[in-house]
Amino acid sequence: MNGRRPDKTGRRPRAKKSLGQNFLISGKVVDRIVRALDPGSMVPIMEIGPGTGALTGPLAEKGARIAAFELDRRLAKELGERFADCDNVEIVEADVREIDFDLEAEGREWEKYRLAGNIPYLLTSTIMIKLGLLRSCAGAVIMVQKEVGDRILTSPGERGCGILSVFLQAWFDISMVTAARAGAFMPKPKVDSVVLGFTPEAREGAPYDRKGFLGFVKVSFSQRRKKLVNVLGTLLGEGGKAEATKLMDKAKTDAGLRPEELSLDDWFRLYEVFEKR
Ligand code: SAM
Repeated sequence: MNGRRPDKTGRRPRAKKSLGQNFLISGKVVDRIVRALDPGSMVPIMEIGPGTGALTGPLAEKGARIAAFELDRRLAKELGERFADCDNVEIVEADVREIDFDLEAEGREWEKYRLAGNIPYLLTSTIMIKLGLLRSCAGAVIMVQKEVGDRILTSPGERGCGILSVFLQAWFDISMVTAARAGAFMPKPKVDSVVLGFTPEAREGAPYDRKGFLGFVKVSFSQRRKKLVNVLGTLLGEGGKAEATKLMDKAKTDAGLRPEELSLDDWFRLYEVFEKR
């Protein structure tokens, strides 16, 4: 498929690879995402990269209040025209990397909101980290590449978990909404995808300083094959390994563990001890 064949609505979107434009054409996948977003509820939705409106349209029809942020000027203009008479939809031409969704919500007097999107995959890490730092977000439904989704869903302590698994599972209960094969998009991407649902979950012991916690988890995973005590020891400088051993002991965390072997509770305790230091 070359990206110029008409979609279900008869339009011929010319996809820009640099903007990760793979437009959803599967009605089944759209339905599942829309259902997961519960558009009838009163919580408004911030949509990332509405593209040709594959999600925006059905969400708007179900009465959801939407603010959608699209970087592609032409698509933003087309969507703006399409939804001009729709009071519940606002199309904003913007780069989501620059958007603080909490501030956007505040400006609209939205106490809470949900985040949604079939996002450009080049921005997956950026968007996932943004999501983990948000305070007013009442949940999210986001499409990611299957391999990334698998990693995010892996529990801390299990083989294959990583920075995003630990960082996101600290604040969210994460579930798989649906799979989306490459054929669900136009043009067809080279990878399969999954849609993840994020429900905020207040976890005992979760740190308040999310940025600090993220930095700590990132450093800890910088050499994922090494024992964590060695990674943290190097970071602490001369005599660092002895100090790291002491700190891990204080946090009741086995000094022989590698980063992917720590449970979420281990991460919380360890960060608390290191933060105090
Ligand atoms: N939501 C549409 C759909 O499901 O068919 C489009 C999805 S497409 C994978 C990603 C969309 O994000 C494109 O419309 C693209 O132009 C837009 N996009 C890419 N980079 C962006 C950025 N930095 N800020 C906002 N939108 C961006």
